[in-house]
Amino acid sequence: MVIEPVAHLYNDYVEKFGIPRQSLRVPARAKIVFVEKYRVPEALREIEHFSHLWLLFDFSQAHRGDFSPTVRPPRLGGNRRVGVFASRSPFRPNSIGLSAVRLLAVEKDARLGHCLIVEGADLLNGTPIYDIKPYLAGDSIPQAVCGYADEFTDYALSVDFPPRLLELLPPQMRAPLVALLREDPRPSYQEDNTRVYRFRYGNFEIGFSVEGDLLHVLSVDAAD
Ligand code: SAM
Repeated sequence: MVIEPVAHLYNDYVEKFGIPRQSLRVPARAKIVFVEKYRVPEALREIEHFSHLWLLFDFSQAHRGDFSPTVRPPRLGGNRRVGVFASRSPFRPNSIGLSAVRLLAVEKDARLGHCLIVEGADLLNGTPIYDIKPYLAGDSIPQAVCGYADEFTDYALSVDFPPRLLELLPPQMRAPLVALLREDPRPSYQEDNTRVYRFRYGNFEIGFSVEGDLLHVLSVDAAD
């Protein structure tokens, strides 16, 4: 099978650091733009009647030639290995990701044709999308047992975001950024509370440190 993108997703996650680790955790918006060949309104007929969609996508910045049968999920502190097929790691034999997102609108753009406006994606800006399918109620399994992931269902940091810094961001970026920081964007658990982390979020660079369960936002700067 030859596989090619049907669309690309665009959002404020302009670097890998600072992207949520799973979808639907952070209410940030994204726009899905179809490639010209699939920019066909009929292909979207009745999609607006679905509240959520599945995206199958390319972990485009995680392509690697070698195969590692185990990975170290960051949530496990970065030192416990699990099988790649028991993980949602971007580093897998075929770099295919699977995310559920909320469909907010189908929007007609004069230049780009019909686009999908979605919320809750855990994808990097520009990620190629291979397929889009409606999420069905039967896809949900409330009694599912989720292995090591069950240990982190309620994990969240408290966020100290000084109002004078928060106000530097456009209003629509504020709640998604706070939700993202609550998710603990550090690469793995690190106890060094003097370390300052920085990441790009849209046109801004955010600086923060973490002390125990409390994340302090230290800076919000315009990125170059
Ligand atoms: N929900 C998806 C899944 O289960 O297949 C993705 C889970 S994966 C743990 C989410 C992480 O993938 C993000 O935090 C980000 O670091 C990474 N990621 C997202 N888009 C990517 C891309 N285009 N290339 C490489 N890594 C990407």
